[in-house]
Amino acid sequence: MVLAVISDIHANLEALEAVMRDIEQCKADKIICLGDTVGYGPDPAPCLDLVEKTCDVRLMGNHEYAVIGKLSPQQINRTAKISLSWTHDQLADTAMPRITDLPLAASMNDLYFVHASPWEPDKWRYVLSPGEADVAFKHFEQRVCFNGHSHIPMIFALGDDHVRRQAGHSFQPNEETRYIVNVGSVGQPRDNDPRACYVTYDTTEDEVLFHRIEYDIAKAQHKMKQAELPAMLIQRLQTGV
Ligand code: ZN
Repeated sequence: MVLAVISDIHANLEALEAVMRDIEQCKADKIICLGDTVGYGPDPAPCLDLVEKTCDVRLMGNHEYAVIGKLSPQQINRTAKISLSWTHDQLADTAMPRITDLPLAASMNDLYFVHASPWEPDKWRYVLSPGEADVAFKHFEQRVCFNGHSHIPMIFALGDDHVRRQAGHSFQPNEETRYIVNVGSVGQPRDNDPRACYVTYDTTEDEVLFHRIEYDIAKAQHKMKQAELPAMLIQRLQTGV
């Protein structure tokens, strides 16, 4: 079976469509979306529609959590606040009930899926260091956890009671080792590579693979300008920072 795992689309329809075309070519059997489908970008409703139509598992991200009013204002930075109130206006009425019931985490055999850290998923902690990963490993039982949230693709491996960060764009999970795999961001990458990012896991070949996909960044930026979204959010699509 081939699983495709996507996260942090952030209302970037151009990036999402490009990723979906690539996933089709990979012949994925299941698509899992780890949340933050909305927020920052210009197309929250069309992205929710496409995710609903194509994904087998859909999780809650902190941006969905904020849009439905469950995050306190102190937990949200100024730029995010502007885009959230804009997103809220776009989604009013019809889309809101579709976000409200999204689960915070899901599992499938020996795989676990969550938006941020497995440690209290509704606290939206980052897993960026081996120390943070060490704590996170204690809060799920499965062999591999896929997460997002930081928009930075990363692999942490736990073997012999020791967590290390693993480099590379693909790996074959070792039987004796547990993993936390950050699948990066479809719609707002922050690892100095502006291309959309997602991950496939081929369970037959036992291979995890990161994919980087070019998309029409200028078109997404143009839509954001027309929607008068913050300039910093428009600029960062180009730089991937
Ligand atoms: Zn995000």
